[in-house]
Amino acid sequence: MNYDESCVFCKIGRKEIPAAIVYEDSEVMAFLDINPVSKGHTLVILKEHFRNFNEVPKNLLAKVMNVCQTISQASIMELKASGVNILTNIEKAAGQEVMHFHVHIIPRYETNDGFNLEMKPLAHEEKELTNIATMIKRAM
Ligand code: 5GP
Ligand code: ZN
Repeated sequence: MNYDESCVFCKIGRKEIPAAIVYEDSEVMAFLDINPVSKGHTLVILKEHFRNFNEVPKNLLAKVMNVCQTISQASIMELKASGVNILTNIEKAAGQEVMHFHVHIIPRYETNDGFNLEMKPLAHEEKELTNIATMIKRAM
């Protein structure tokens, strides 16, 4: 099993440092983010160290997503969230700071919940989309 001695989430997974744990099984753990961006902001991790989403074996990814869905449902039921954002950052350019794969579950509330995930469309031409789709398909 991959483990990185200097990794804070490896340590949380082994309970070497404390966290407000929401869920745990032999492979997956969920705990509250220490600096929440909304009420109930939760991180879902694999106990094993993988740098990010792109590095995770697909069978383990499915286990993580399963837990993400249950926590998302629980946020709406119990915290009375009106919606949820689920996101994972891959590398520094995308905002990843802790280099141990994790998924953010961010409950959203109708009034001033403080979080903003604005997606501003880029100007583009239709032909460009076709070309980009071709490039991605080629690499799959
Ligand atoms: P990233 O930017 O890498 O996607 O997000 C890392 C998240 O981990 C941040 O939201 C940050 O607040 C959270 N975090 C960093 N260190 C700790 C910690 O020691 N404990 C907990 N519970 N969360 C942490
Ligand atoms: Zn780690």
